[in-house]
Amino acid sequence: MLPLKSGATLREGGTPLVESRLKPNLWVKFEGANPTGSFKDRGMALGVTVAKEAGANKVVVASTGNTAASAAAYAARAGLKAYVVLPKGNVARGKLMQAALHGAEIVVVDGYFDKALSMVVEYGTKAAYPLNSFNPWRLEGQKTVAFEIYEELGCPDNVVVPVGNAGNIYAIWKGFKELGALGLCKKLPRMIGVQAAGAAPLAKAWREGLDRPLFLDEPRTVASAIKIGKPINWAKAFIAVNESHGMFIEVPDSEILRAQSLLARADGLGAEPAGATSVAGALALDLPGTTVAVVTGHALKDPDVVEVKTAQVSSEAELLSLLEK
Ligand SMILES: *Cc1c(COP(=O)(O)O)cnc(C)c1O
Repeated sequence: MLPLKSGATLREGGTPLVESRLKPNLWVKFEGANPTGSFKDRGMALGVTVAKEAGANKVVVASTGNTAASAAAYAARAGLKAYVVLPKGNVARGKLMQAALHGAEIVVVDGYFDKALSMVVEYGTKAAYPLNSFNPWRLEGQKTVAFEIYEELGCPDNVVVPVGNAGNIYAIWKGFKELGALGLCKKLPRMIGVQAAGAAPLAKAWREGLDRPLFLDEPRTVASAIKIGKPINWAKAFIAVNESHGMFIEVPDSEILRAQSLLARADGLGAEPAGATSVAGALALDLPGTTVAVVTGHALKDPDVVEVKTAQVSSEAELLSLLEK
């Protein structure tokens, strides 16, 4: 069901689908288990393969971090040079480290992701092969999340997805529609897109009954992977939500961080804030039937959002008394 076989693969996908202890009938698809720690690897495998076959020797992406980490790794695998354009000060530490580790050229711009993306769209594409999610191959790779959920669980009633640049929710919906066309899904899931309240151009428009987003210039959220004011794939996301009779909702940062902590402590799954946004949405809603929350990125991506508390002891006796408390 994929348009081509991936040449630049790192064996992405095949991620755990775990039944959550947080709520009955809630399952978590843990995309943090991909090779670079986010779902971006699914699409990057195809995107980089196509870049290589097209004879490119350079790829370029604008990124809030995970696309950069993934592009850097897959470009390395394929022997291509990666340029990553990042919003200065708005990228989590683990993701920057990955881009550097895999040998990408890191370029920073003042401003938000939206500025970096418009620079890549307008100028970057002239000199290098672009791998942002307006590249259709990326979305083709990402739709495999739907196939894997189907293989383990059949077709769930609801699929909850964090929404930033808004490509992934459409990619997953496309996967389910293809399963439907083959007669494998009798009833397709409702697609529920969750945005952070300070970066919710789609959710705010949806609540007001508009059919286009309320773009914002200064997105604000702890979930840096979805800190996006002008999502480029907004029209596709509206299609996914409308066709599936789903919805967009927004959740405040406090609920995102609470969901991150609950997921880590009740289910043993470490998510970065954007990744836990789907769980925050699933916990906030009363959804009938089976729900799959797609947890899009690993906790290690963003070590700075978690407060680390320690207790110091200086003797065996102190340790023992602490353990006995
Ligand atoms: C990229 C990303 C998203 C947003 O996906 P879109 O396709 O841009 O909506 C969400 N969470 C994480 C961890 C991401 O890396």
